[in-house]
Amino acid sequence: MFATSSDILKWADSQHVAIGGFNVYNFEGIKAVIEGAEEEETPIIIQMHPASLQRGAKPLMAMALEAANLSKVPVSIHLDHVDSLEVVKEGIDFGLQSFMPDGSIHNYQGNVEFTRLCARIIKDNEGFVEGELGRLSGTEDGTTIENYKSLLTDPLQVIDFVSSTTIDALAVCVGNVHGKYLSEPKLDFQRLYRIREATEIPLVMHGASGLPNEIISECIRAGISKFNVNTELRQAYILGMSEAVDQGMSDLISVMNLCIVKMREVVVSKIRQYSFI
Ligand SMILES: [Zn+2]
Repeated sequence: MFATSSDILKWADSQHVAIGGFNVYNFEGIKAVIEGAEEEETPIIIQMHPASLQRGAKPLMAMALEAANLSKVPVSIHLDHVDSLEVVKEGIDFGLQSFMPDGSIHNYQGNVEFTRLCARIIKDNEGFVEGELGRLSGTEDGTTIENYKSLLTDPLQVIDFVSSTTIDALAVCVGNVHGKYLSEPKLDFQRLYRIREATEIPLVMHGASGLPNEIISECIRAGISKFNVNTELRQAYILGMSEAVDQGMSDLISVMNLCIVKMREVVVSKIRQYSFI
């Protein structure tokens, strides 16, 4: 059944677990995420990057919304990393209610203004808003932020950021990176605890692909309620494709099914990882 991101995060809070936000690009991705969640009987968030929206537009969103409606578990559809007001409006027109306006490219005041402006429109439509304070390095869907331009979340700015922007969830930068971790992940847990103390709204970690179990568990204990997963799902999809080629498969349904199986395995393992403190 279709659910709001807010309801799903409330459920996660009540169960003392975290929720996965899984980025998808097509029907196979949507199917893999929902099947994984149904297998684990847990709510889930399907996410799309604006690049997905640009390519699949209304048909892709309609498919995701209908798949959410038909699912046996609560599913919300979230638009990730939106960097313009136009895309927010487009998403609302497509029936979306959950957004991450990403103003992290701007300075602090610019980020506040962009996020607040988007939040006003989203909330006029009874939607859910995730904002980011700091700036994450790494690569996602064609956008790269170099390491030297990244900024960790300043716990002293959290209260002002949350109240000025009226966001419902806060994406934090505490050493997490988009894409592949080039060296062993080192998260600043002290900073995360200070952020947690500064606000009660759910905290989100982008760049959760590749974080080992013990770091994920510590993040949940430190107050992370949602992890975003993109890279590992993409890798699983491509692995399915390459295995299909290696096996000489020519039946497209079998190829697509193999990709779904590979992605679903990642979804299930992440859900289990996020349920374990
Ligand atoms: Zn992200």
